[in-house]
Amino acid sequence: MTCRLMVLSSQLAFKSLPRMFTTSAVRFSKEEGFPDPLDLATGIEKKEMLLRLAGNDDPYNLKAIKRGVSTIDKPTEIPSAFEARIVGCVCEEDASHVKWMWLHSGEPKRCMCGHWFKLVYKEPLI
Ligand SMILES: [Zn+2]
Repeated sequence: MTCRLMVLSSQLAFKSLPRMFTTSAVRFSKEEGFPDPLDLATGIEKKEMLLRLAGNDDPYNLKAIKRGVSTIDKPTEIPSAFEARIVGCVCEEDASHVKWMWLHSGEPKRCMCGHWFKLVYKEPLI
């Protein structure tokens, strides 16, 4: 009896819930499908998509840069659109931490491990 009451009460509870749905003003026909995201994008998002299509898979220079010789005469160049950038150096291959440091424009900087870094200007996306 208790079990039957619980089933009935749960049926009533689910029946009384209002249906939630949203609508959109944009409609697409089945023949055309969803439009190309490039056509919908604007501003910096569109510029980023165009750069990626042109072959630049790192438009914000966020990928890790492999150190070269990294001497004072030939430092590892770090691109930036600003006057300074935070750089992380993994000093040793097996290191479990990153040595973070500020790198300022016009001032090559030496990490504690001996590698040199230099900030080079790069045009911003906008
Ligand atoms: Zn280092």
